[in-house]
Amino acid sequence: MIGLAPGIVRIPTRGDGDNCFLIEEDDGLTLVDVGWKNAPTVIRQAVETAGRTLTDINRIVITHAHPDHVRGLAELVARAGGADVFIHELEERWLATGRVPRHGRSGALGRAIDHLPLLHWQPVAAPRTVTDGASVGSLRVIHTPGHSPGHIVLLHEPTRTLLVGDAVFHRSKPALGPAALAADPAARPASLLRMPRDVHTVGFAHGQPLSGERISAFHDFLQAIAAGEARHA
Ligand SMILES: [Zn+2]
Ligand SMILES: [Zn+2]
Repeated sequence: MIGLAPGIVRIPTRGDGDNCFLIEEDDGLTLVDVGWKNAPTVIRQAVETAGRTLTDINRIVITHAHPDHVRGLAELVARAGGADVFIHELEERWLATGRVPRHGRSGALGRAIDHLPLLHWQPVAAPRTVTDGASVGSLRVIHTPGHSPGHIVLLHEPTRTLLVGDAVFHRSKPALGPAALAADPAARPASLLRMPRDVHTVGFAHGQPLSGERISAFHDFLQAIAAGEARHA
């Protein structure tokens, strides 16, 4: 558990690169994404280190229904004692089906791996659906389709912290990630340009966060995307 911004901690659930985020709200905790099957145990330890329990989690917001974000979700919902689950309306069925559908990946490699039982999850029924502009706790939803059709990015307005899910990967530098694993790779640049630029901190589902002076790497990346889009226009 590592502080990201006032009221927000990053919880690495696998190594130090794959993250979920926990947000302190007036009425409890909001969790953004879960992780693989082991994640509930890691999240429980982090929450207890902060002097809270899993039942303090009122809301779980899922940036998109990919296995590395939701495989531990059903167990966490059970352990949290009925937290509300939020997901974009375009992926409600994915969550309830327990796997990424064929149209969820643009490339043969992506479709092939989705046959693996390791990438299926225990279905989660009756999530609460969100669309662009919705508020969930202190977070504002920004719809960023491309990596998946219902991918959302979340802006924590009090601290101007942007949690970008898989819209941007940060393995060594900000990047779009593998096209074959995305639903509509060509839609990604325009989606990224929907994200607010005036942010102080960026949390990635995959990779180290950026803040302070280092956030210029994120801004430079968005600028390069914008230049590329302008060229294609
Ligand atoms: Zn993903
Ligand atoms: Zn991911």
